[in-house]
Amino acid sequence: MKDKIIKELLEKETIRQNEGIELIASENYPSIDVMEAQGSIFTAKYAEGYPGKRYYGGCEVVDQVESLAIERAKELFHAKFANVQPHSGSQANFAAYHALLNKGDKVLSLVLNDGGHLTHGSPVSFSSHDYQFSFYPLGEDGHIDLDLLKELLDKENPNLLLAGYSAYPYAIPFKKIKEILDAHNEKASTHCFFMVDMAHIAGIIASGLCENPVDYADIVTSTTHKTLRGPRGGLILTNDEAIAKKVNSAIFPYSQGGPLEHVIAAKAVAFGEALHPAFKEYMRKVLENTKACNDELAALGAKVSGTDNHLFLLDVLSSYGINGKEAQARLGEIGITVNKNMIHGDTLSPALTSGIRIGFAALTSRGASLEDAKEVARIIHEALKTPNPNIEKLKERTAKIAASLKDVTSLQYPSIGE
Ligand SMILES: *Cc1c(COP(=O)(O)O)cnc(C)c1O
Repeated sequence: MKDKIIKELLEKETIRQNEGIELIASENYPSIDVMEAQGSIFTAKYAEGYPGKRYYGGCEVVDQVESLAIERAKELFHAKFANVQPHSGSQANFAAYHALLNKGDKVLSLVLNDGGHLTHGSPVSFSSHDYQFSFYPLGEDGHIDLDLLKELLDKENPNLLLAGYSAYPYAIPFKKIKEILDAHNEKASTHCFFMVDMAHIAGIIASGLCENPVDYADIVTSTTHKTLRGPRGGLILTNDEAIAKKVNSAIFPYSQGGPLEHVIAAKAVAFGEALHPAFKEYMRKVLENTKACNDELAALGAKVSGTDNHLFLLDVLSSYGINGKEAQARLGEIGITVNKNMIHGDTLSPALTSGIRIGFAALTSRGASLEDAKEVARIIHEALKTPNPNIEKLKERTAKIAASLKDVTSLQYPSIGE
C-alpha cells in the first residue's frame, strides 16, 4: 500500500487485535477468504437492482455471485427468500419495518436498557421517529416474561412484535412467543406481525444449536459479522413471498442504491463456511467457552448472568463496587477489550452502567480453549477485585494467552465451496 499513513494504521490495528483479548460480544474474526472477497474487484461494479433485473450492463458475473449468496443464505437458515443487500444490520431493520408497517404504526419491543438495540425504538434512532414504540421489560429473573408479554400485547395492540437483542444471554423462546402472538391475533382488531432481529445469534441459529426464528417470524433480520463470522453487513429472510417482494423494494430503491457486490461475495464465502459441519463444532466451542468463563467468575464469587449463548453479563457494581465504565477502562489497560453494559434493573446511567458484556465468539475463532476461557475469568477477577491491582503482572498473563492464539489476519475455516 502506497498510502503510508493508512498502511501504518493498518499495521497498528493488526498488532492491537493480535496482542489483545477480544471479548466484545458483537465482534468476530472472518477468514482470509472472506477478507479476500471483500477486498476484491467486485467493489468496482455497479449493480442496482437484483440478479436478472439490473439497471446496469455487465452484471452477468455479479448476478451469479449474488444468486449464490442468496441460495446459501436460504439453505443455511431454511428460508424461502433472502435479501443479501443490506449494508448493515440497521439498514436491514430500516427496510424490514418499511416492508411491514406504515409510518406511525405501533411496535412492541424489549426495553432498551434490558438488551434491545438502538434501531428497536431508541429516541436517537430513526425507528422512534417513524414508528410508535412501546416496550416490554424482562421479568424479575432477567428472562423474557411470557405472561407479561401477553398482557402488553393485548394492552398495546401493536402492529409489530419485535424479538432478538444485543445483550440477552439466554435462549429466546421463539416458538412460545409465536404461540402467544397467534392467540393474540385471533381476537385482536389489528394484525400484529412478528419480526426477529437475530443479529447477535445468527451463527448459533445457523448451526442448529438453538430454535430457528425463520420457522416462526414474518421477517428475520440479521448482521453477518457477529457470531455468523462474515463481512460487516446485513441480511433479511422470510418465508412469505408477498413480504419478500416488499423487502426487496424497501432495500432498493427505497433505502439503498447500488449493492456492495464485493461484500455480497464475502457473505457468500461466509455462508459457505457456516454450512460446513466444522462451523457447528466452532459454535459449540463458543458456547462452552462462554459458559466456562461465566462459571469460573461465579465460582470466584462474582455476580454473573449465566448464559445459554455466546455472551453473559458481569455485574461489576455488585461484584467489585465499581461501575461498567471503570471496569471497561481497567480491563483495557491490561489488554482485554469489553464494553460496559446496562444490566437488568440497573440503577446507573447508560454512560456508566453497572455491568460489562463478555462474549467468546471472537476469541474462539482464534482457537481459545476452555482453559484459556477460565484463565480469562481469573484475570478479569484479579483486575477488578482490588482498586490497585498489579497491572504489569496481569498484562503479562493476557499477553501470554494472546501470543498462544492464531494470527487474526490469516484465519482459515473449512467451506462447502472447497
Ligand atoms: C448489532 C445489531 C444491529 C445492528 O447492526 P449494524 O450492522 O451495527 O447496523 C441490529 N440489531 C441488533 C440486535 C444488533 O445486535
